[in-house]
Amino acid sequence: MKKGLLIVFSGVSGVGKGTLLDRLMPMEDLNLAYSVSMTTRAPREGEVEGEDYFFVSKKRFVEAIKNDELLEHARFVGNDYGTPRAYVEQQRELGKNVILEIEIRGAKQIMEKCPDALSIYIVPPSLEELERRLRARGTEDDETIMKRISKAKKELKDTDTYEHIVCNDDLDVAVEEIRQIILDEIDKQEEN
Ligand code: 5GP
Repeated sequence: MKKGLLIVFSGVSGVGKGTLLDRLMPMEDLNLAYSVSMTTRAPREGEVEGEDYFFVSKKRFVEAIKNDELLEHARFVGNDYGTPRAYVEQQRELGKNVILEIEIRGAKQIMEKCPDALSIYIVPPSLEELERRLRARGTEDDETIMKRISKAKKELKDTDTYEHIVCNDDLDVAVEEIRQIILDEIDKQEEN
C-alpha cells in the first residue's frame, strides 16, 4: 500500500480553517485523517479533549519535546502547540492522507523534515474581513483579537514556504479549490 500524504494546512487565526476542514474531512475520495495537536492553551467553550486538541500542562509539553514525541512544535500568542508524531506515522502507513492544521513556524519545520509534504495556506479576502470574523467568533477578548490580527499581518508576509495559497472568500469555491489540490496530489503520487 502507498504511504498517505502529509498535508500542511495553515492560515491566520480566524480565516475559517475549521469550517473548511469540517467540509473537507468527510469527503471519502480525499481519505483524510486529522492530526490532533497537543497544546498548553486552555480549552475554548465547546472544545473537546482528544478531538480538538490534547490539552496538556506546560510540564507535560516539555516532557513530550524531551521524549521526541512531537514531529514539530511552536509557540503561538503565549501558548505551545505541537504535532504528536506517532499518530501521523501510523495513519500514513495505513494509506491515510494526514492533515496537520498548524501555524507557519511549525510548517517550516515539517517542510525541512518532509520536503514532499503538500502545503496549503488559506488567506482572508482582507484584514478588515479577518477582524470581523474573529469578533463574530466571540471566543477571544479584545486584547487577544488585536494580538492575533497583528500576528496575522506579519504571517501574511511570510507565506513563501507554501506551495498553494487559497483565498477563503466564498466558502464553496475555497472548498472545491482545496479538494482539487489534494486530488491532484493523490493522482501524482499514484503515478509514481
Ligand atoms: P488556536 O489557538 O486558534 O486553536 O490555534 C492557534 C494557531 O496554532 C493556529 O494557527 C493553529 O493552526 C496553530 N496550531 C494548532 N496546532 C498546532 C500544532 O500542533 N503545531 C503548530 N506549530 N501550530 C499549531
